[in-house]
Amino acid sequence: MDADEFRRSGGEMVDFIADYLQNIRQRRPLPAVSPGYLKKLISEEAPSDGESWESVKDDIEKVIMPGVSSAHTFREPLLASSPACTELEMIALDWLGKMLRLPQDFLFSGERQGGSIILGGASEAILISLISARKAAINKLRCLDPQLTNGQALDKLVAYTSDQTHCCMEKSCLIGLVSLTILPSDTTGALSWETLEAAICRDLARGLVPVFFCATIGTTSTCAFDNLAELGPVCNKYGVWMHVDAAYAGSACICPEFRYLLDGVEHCTSISVSPHKWLLVNYDCTALWTLSHPQHWQVNMGRRFRSLKLWFVLRMYGVKGLQERIRQDVHLAKQFAQMVKADSRFELIGDVTLGLVCFRLKHCNCVNEELHEKLKSDRRIHLIPSSFKGKFFLRFVICPASTQLQDVSFAWSVINEITDGITRHCATRRAKPPGSCACITIRHS
Ligand SMILES: *Cc1c(COP(=O)(O)O)cnc(C)c1O
Repeated sequence: MDADEFRRSGGEMVDFIADYLQNIRQRRPLPAVSPGYLKKLISEEAPSDGESWESVKDDIEKVIMPGVSSAHTFREPLLASSPACTELEMIALDWLGKMLRLPQDFLFSGERQGGSIILGGASEAILISLISARKAAINKLRCLDPQLTNGQALDKLVAYTSDQTHCCMEKSCLIGLVSLTILPSDTTGALSWETLEAAICRDLARGLVPVFFCATIGTTSTCAFDNLAELGPVCNKYGVWMHVDAAYAGSACICPEFRYLLDGVEHCTSISVSPHKWLLVNYDCTALWTLSHPQHWQVNMGRRFRSLKLWFVLRMYGVKGLQERIRQDVHLAKQFAQMVKADSRFELIGDVTLGLVCFRLKHCNCVNEELHEKLKSDRRIHLIPSSFKGKFFLRFVICPASTQLQDVSFAWSVINEITDGITRHCATRRAKPPGSCACITIRHS
């Protein structure tokens, strides 16, 4: 949808809402549909080709509005009062789950009645999963030993994750009062199953109870991938709840060529993917799939109608359209990586699998920090740095939806220009007595 189309369609939606408010007395306060009504009106899978906004808009009146309560806003979560809200969320998440080829057990349409919910972010998904795992573990411990108090049981619980996991895992454990063991990742940024199993065995020997493990598909720092097929069996062996945080990289798994990243997902108990990160859905929209029915998997009673925007995007782009966008972004990232590789002053950090390119000057950390500081004060492009195994580097990520080759080339030219400035700067430092600055040599291309 281009800017003109957006302006026109946006205007039409404002008219639709104004008409609705003006004529609200003609609508029933509560919908007259029976539970499951929406399933009969909507296909079981996302369309492979994109549809026009007109056809999506027609369905708002035809299939959504009959299941919407007009007595109040969409605050009430009960199926009886606003079934459209609950049912569309179930349908849209099943669509997405099928696009990701998640095991049947995670889907509402699957036999085991797993399910999913839309939350506000990956952090919330981890917190909710941790708290559910904690609850189940405490119940089990108190069943085995009725003398045990909740607090005593809680004191025994341990969660695990790698040093590359997003810091929201640490925050969840702080809120959830569960001790966390942060394990060292390997040279690729992934956690090995041997490291996890050794930590679990160590804690079991100390009388502790391993309860939760958070794996990451696409770490924030370098976009590394934990091997679910290896870590999963370890978690299953010791009865540990494995959550998979695939906030960013999960979206890419709708493409068959990237789906291998989720191999082994059948071992996990919950997985979250954030379509607001890389699937063109506006903030906020994080999908959490679990193996238990997620009826009480949110803190609030009411629920926002977030599935609408997910449904709109899935229909208007279609599976093929979204796959195309992911592939374009990955291609652009690879083109940027080529530019970095072709310049002998720079090196890449890690592999470029998806849309993130990690790179640095072949130099000490402080020159790279200076490059970052200068780019920051230059303000033409925005890069967020990170460090891995003691190396400070810059992160270049393709922003979905709008980035084109010309933007990538522009960013690279800015990086070059600023780097040239640093080279000169260091050359002047060279005149100083040795030892006054560690950064006196920089290789020219
Ligand atoms: C972005 C990200 C998060 C944090 O997501 P929020 O939605 O901001 O809570 C967590 N984990 C990973 C891997 C991420 O990429």
